[in-house]
Parts: sequence; C-alpha cells; structure tokens
Amino acid sequence: MDAKKFYTLPDLPYGANELEPYISEAQLALHHDKHHMAYVKGANAVFEAMEKARADERDFDVKATLKELSFHIGGHLLHSLFWANMAPAGKGGGAPKGRLAEALDEEFGSFERFRKEFSKAAASVEGSGWAALTFCRMTERPIIMQVEKHNTNVYPMFGILLVLDLWEHAYYLDYRNERPKFVEAFWNIVNWEEAERRLDNVLRA
Ligand code: MN
Repeated sequence: MDAKKFYTLPDLPYGANELEPYISEAQLALHHDKHHMAYVKGANAVFEAMEKARADERDFDVKATLKELSFHIGGHLLHSLFWANMAPAGKGGGAPKGRLAEALDEEFGSFERFRKEFSKAAASVEGSGWAALTFCRMTERPIIMQVEKHNTNVYPMFGILLVLDLWEHAYYLDYRNERPKFVEAFWNIVNWEEAERRLDNVLRA
C-alpha cells in the first residue's frame, strides 16, 4: 500500500511583500508561515493520533477528535483559498467581470451593494471567523456566508468564490483593533479573476 498522504502548506502565489501597503510583509509572513502552518500540522497530528489508536486497537474520543479535525482542515482549506483570491497591489481590486458580475448584479442589485453587504458580514463576524462569497449550485445564486472559527455555519456543497480572514491574527499587526479598515483595504487586493475562475468551475461541475 502506498504511504498515506498528509496536508502540506502551499506557497504564497506572490511575494510576502507584494500585498503592501494593504497587508504588510510582516503580517502576511506571520499569518502564512505560522498560523496557516499550525492548521496543517494540527490536521496531520490528528490523523497520526487516530492511526496510532487504530494500530493499538485503542479507543479514542471520536466526537472530540472529529471536531478538532474539522477545525484544522477547515482552517487549512480556507487559508489556501484566501491566499489565492488576493493579488499583488496594483494588480488586484476593481470589480469582477462576466458571469460573476452578472450574478452579483442580479442578486444584490449592483456590485457596490454586494460590496457593502460583504463588508458588513466581514466586520460583524463574532470573534474569529471568515466572510465568504459562495455560490449555490441548486439555485445558481451567489450567497454571502459568514463562517465562525473555520467551520461553523458552512453550507455543504456551496462553491466558495472568495474568502476574507477576520481572525485577529490576519490583521492585528497592521490594523490593531480596527477590523473595518482591514476590510476596506482588502478590496484593493481582491483577485477577481480567481473568483471568476472558481465560478466557472462551480458552473461546470
Ligand atoms: Mn488566518
């Protein structure tokens, strides 16, 4: 049997200083290298612990273990989406085009209205969590999802087009307690082309 696979930390798709001045190199490097890595290691550690328990034919707390696993895998996957849906300063921002632009116009009335609702979702996440733009395959409608921690309030099967990390570890070095300023800065580095690609994949699936 082949060796079992584990999660790995993806490289940032740009230099750690390329999101400046919106996200500083120190903030981004800490977030990616330490915080994201902790979820990768956390998920892999859970797999190793389960494997050991199974090999020893020893019971483990299945409920608590699965909760921990969901937290770490959710964290890993959301961060992986997050890095890729940002683009270097000067290359990101603006507004989406094509099918995504149409879907946002149809649902929210305008891109500006979508942006306002998404910003409110982001600013009002209780404690640690995420805001996400998602797409329901059944209704073919975009829906804003507010995720608590990394895994609470997630809608299964929804395609995720865009995520924004609202944990304090995402912005505290740069913005301290001023989360709305971080949310405003984010709009300058959104990679809409990536969000459009994700929508294409959702529609094709
Ligand atoms: Mn984070």
